[in-house]
Amino acid sequence: MGGVSNRFVALIGFFVLLAVSALAAPVRAQPAAVATDSSIAGDKERTDFTMTLSTGVAVEVFTLANPYRVILDMPDVSFELPKTSGQSGKGLISAYRYGLFAARKARVVIDTVLPVSIDRAVMTPESGGAVKLQLSLVAIDAGKFGAGTGASRTSKRPTLSARKAAESPPGKYENGRDRRRPVVVIDPGHGGVDPGTLGPSNVYEKDVVLAVAKELLEELNKLDRFDVAMTRTEDVFVSLDDRLEFSSTRTADLFLSLHADAIADKRYVAQTRGATVYTLSDRASDEAARRMAEKENSADAIAGLASFTDEAEGGVRDILIDLVKRETANFSMALSNSLVGRLKESARLSSKPQRSAAFKVLRQTGTPSVLVELGYLSNKEDEKRLTSPDWRRKVAKSIAAAVGIYFDRRTALAR
Ligand code: ZN
Repeated sequence: MGGVSNRFVALIGFFVLLAVSALAAPVRAQPAAVATDSSIAGDKERTDFTMTLSTGVAVEVFTLANPYRVILDMPDVSFELPKTSGQSGKGLISAYRYGLFAARKARVVIDTVLPVSIDRAVMTPESGGAVKLQLSLVAIDAGKFGAGTGASRTSKRPTLSARKAAESPPGKYENGRDRRRPVVVIDPGHGGVDPGTLGPSNVYEKDVVLAVAKELLEELNKLDRFDVAMTRTEDVFVSLDDRLEFSSTRTADLFLSLHADAIADKRYVAQTRGATVYTLSDRASDEAARRMAEKENSADAIAGLASFTDEAEGGVRDILIDLVKRETANFSMALSNSLVGRLKESARLSSKPQRSAAFKVLRQTGTPSVLVELGYLSNKEDEKRLTSPDWRRKVAKSIAAAVGIYFDRRTALAR
C-alpha cells in the first residue's frame, strides 16, 4: 500500500463545506451536474484548481495525508472532460482524477507534491446557470498540516451492505450434494475515481476490464450451469474490502478478478506483453509480481480512501491467510492451470504466465480466486487487442471454457 503502511493514516485536515444556496440543485434522477472543464494554474507556493460545473452542487472539500491529497466530494457529477485531464499537474498539484466513488456520489482526488491547506474555496456563477469551482491551495509544513481545524475526518468507504443480502444466492456448491449451481463472481478491477492504468492511446484499464467482464458474464450465462455475479457493472469505484465482502456474502465458488496493467519501465515496454494469471501467495513469485500486487493493492488509496482497515485488520488478515485451506490454494492453482491452458489459444501469454503475489483481493479463505492480467496496456499491440471487441469476445469464451473445465474436474474429483 505504498506509504500507507505507517502506524496511522493521518487524515487530518481542513475541510470546507461549500454550498451555493442561491443555486440549490433540484433533485433529479440524472446527474446533478456535468463537469465540462478543469484547469490548474499557479506555482509551488500557491496553486489554483478550477472546475466548471453545469450547475451548483454541494461540494465537500478536505485534505488527506499519506500521501498528500485534496478530496472533493460531490453528488453524482458526470465528468465530460478530455481523457487526459489530470494526467499531469502544475505547481503543488502533481495529478488529479475523477469519477464515481459510489452510486450517486462523485469524487475528485487531487494529488499534491507537498502538504497543502485549502486557502480558499469558492463557487461563482457563470453564464447559463453554470458555476466555476475554485480551490486555492497553499503549501504548508507537515507539522501544520496535522493541526488543521477540521476534526479528523474518516473518508468512509461506500458500503455494499444495503444491496448485498437481497440478491445473493445462498448456499454453497459442495461435492455435488447441493443442487445449487456454483456461484462465479467476476471482478472487473478499478472503476469510477480509480481509472487503473492508462494506455498510450488513452485507453483506461477500468473500461477495458469492464467490457471483457460483460462478455464473460454473457459467455458464462450461455453455459447455463453457473450463477454469475459481478462486483461492478458500471463505471463506479468499489473498494477492495467491498469486493471481498461481495464474494463472501455470495459464498462464491470462484472469484475472477480482471485487470490489464502496464509497466513503467520504458526499456521493457515493447517486449512485456501478454496475459498472466496470478494466484495468492505471501511471498511473491518474482519482483515484477510483487510490484504488480503493490500497485493493485493501492487502488483504495488512489480513490482517496483512507484505509484504516489495513492497520486495524492487517494482523487478522495475516492470520487468515495462514488459515486459507490448502484445498482452496490448490483449487486456485487448478483454476490458474485451466485458464492458462485455454488462454493460450486466444490470447498471447506473457513470458511467465503463472505467477503469485500478495494481492489483497485474492485473500479469500474459502473461495478459489485468481487475478488475470489480460495484457499490458503499456504495449501498443496489447492495447490494440484489448480494445478490439472480437478479441474481447474470444478471450471471454476462453475464460468461460476454462471455468467449465475447472468445475468438471472438481466435480469428478468429488465423486
Ligand atoms: Zn489493475
